[in-house]
Amino acid sequence: MSDGLLIIGSSQAGVALATSLRALGYDEPVTLLGDENHRPYQRPALSKEWLQGEITNESLMFRTQDYWDEHDIQVVRNERIVRIDKRDNGSGVAHSMSGTDFGFDRLALAVGARPRRLLLEGVDLPGVLYLRNADDALELKARVPDVQDVVVIGGGFIGIEAAASLHKMGRTVTLVEAAPRLVARAVGEQTSAYLLEHHRASGIDIVLDASVRRIVANGDRVGGVELGDGRVVPADLVLVGVGVIPNTELAESISLECDNGVRVDESALASDGVTVAVGDCANLPNPVPGAPEGDRVRFESVNNAIEQAKVAAYAIMGRREEYAGIPWFWSNQGAIKLQIAGLSTGHDRTLVREDPERGKHSVLYYRGDRIIAADCINHPLDFMAVRSALGKGQAIPFDAAGDPTVPLKSVTTDPADLVPAD
Ligand SMILES: Cc1cc2nc3c(=O)[nH]c(=O)nc-3n(C[C@H](O)[C@H](O)[C@H](O)COP(=O)(O)OP(=O)(O)OC[C@H]3O[C@@H](n4cnc5c(N)ncnc54)[C@H](O)[C@@H]3O)c2cc1C
Repeated sequence: MSDGLLIIGSSQAGVALATSLRALGYDEPVTLLGDENHRPYQRPALSKEWLQGEITNESLMFRTQDYWDEHDIQVVRNERIVRIDKRDNGSGVAHSMSGTDFGFDRLALAVGARPRRLLLEGVDLPGVLYLRNADDALELKARVPDVQDVVVIGGGFIGIEAAASLHKMGRTVTLVEAAPRLVARAVGEQTSAYLLEHHRASGIDIVLDASVRRIVANGDRVGGVELGDGRVVPADLVLVGVGVIPNTELAESISLECDNGVRVDESALASDGVTVAVGDCANLPNPVPGAPEGDRVRFESVNNAIEQAKVAAYAIMGRREEYAGIPWFWSNQGAIKLQIAGLSTGHDRTLVREDPERGKHSVLYYRGDRIIAADCINHPLDFMAVRSALGKGQAIPFDAAGDPTVPLKSVTTDPADLVPAD
């Protein structure tokens, strides 16, 4: 019997790959293997609804055991692959830490990313936590009843989401960010400023431009965070969210090209032309139509994991499909529901549509006359209009989009009406 496909990593991208393959009629064995001791589950709610107790553990699960059984997908938990022997034709054997061998005819890497660790005095104290997986989240949730003062280090999405959740749960939260603005990597200045104002007004103490000197102990556990200016912010719990590092070690060990992720082509094929790599661990050609030649990106989003897994499934079925599409993302931060369509990198002007009374705030990003992205806060209609227009190559003329009372959908024009950007 053939060994079929081995997918290492049983989270968003691995699950999407396995389910896409079965939907396409792939009839070889599929093993979906991960090192966590949980059924495959979704991460986004760990910093939001699940942390706040609004949803159950069960609702995090991707699929029921019945689904895996019915679709003949073998889900393996708690097995960490530490070494791979791969032949030139793409088949081989993966060896796990427990000493079990998993043969494969074809290999998929869906190994994701891990939190970047702080290298500071005090980081190993009990009560200094990270948030990437269910075990991290379970520990965080278990500690919350016993803590009052929380310091979150890092003003990216996960830091802000967790800060907003913990604040909503009645904790005193200070968020410390090294950059001069929040989420600087993913949103523009106006969105950062809006988030800052909103979260400060809601009661989260946010310190920007702040370096962390060390984590201070209180007895044998965490007691505070000392900032670069010598101020010590009291903390019974410190949550660190300073970004992630793609897990490329296995790929490197089998000589796949890596550079901020496993380098793949438009069809999610790695440099050996046969192994696929999908999700947070993959570095791929920018899929946005019209992106600069040779531009590459690594996304950390559910949307990317799903879309890239679809083309990888086609590649495994022997059909070359190119991943092209408009990236999108969401982040729920207390009362803020942020949705992002497109990539704002390279914009040269912005337009803000605001309805302060209803808490709506959208920033539209333009390059020349062409809309390239939007950050939409509590404004699903703007988000959907921009995402749809970008997907169809339609225009939302700058001069027509400024009136927030006029729906964007009504000013969207077809590609034929587009005036080329300079
Ligand atoms: C708290 C949190 C909130 C988020 N919120 C959002 C959101 O609101 N919107 C959004 O779009 N995205 C969000 N994300 C990001 C999203 O969850 C990730 O982009 C997505 O999980 C990536 O999926 P992945 O399968 O590529 O990688 P991962 O989810 O990182 O999964 C990789 C899996 O592989 C396993 N693994 C790694 N190495 C090995 C090995 N050697 N052997 C066996 N198994 C291995 C890992 O343990 C892990 O289970 C959030 C992430 C987190 C952590």
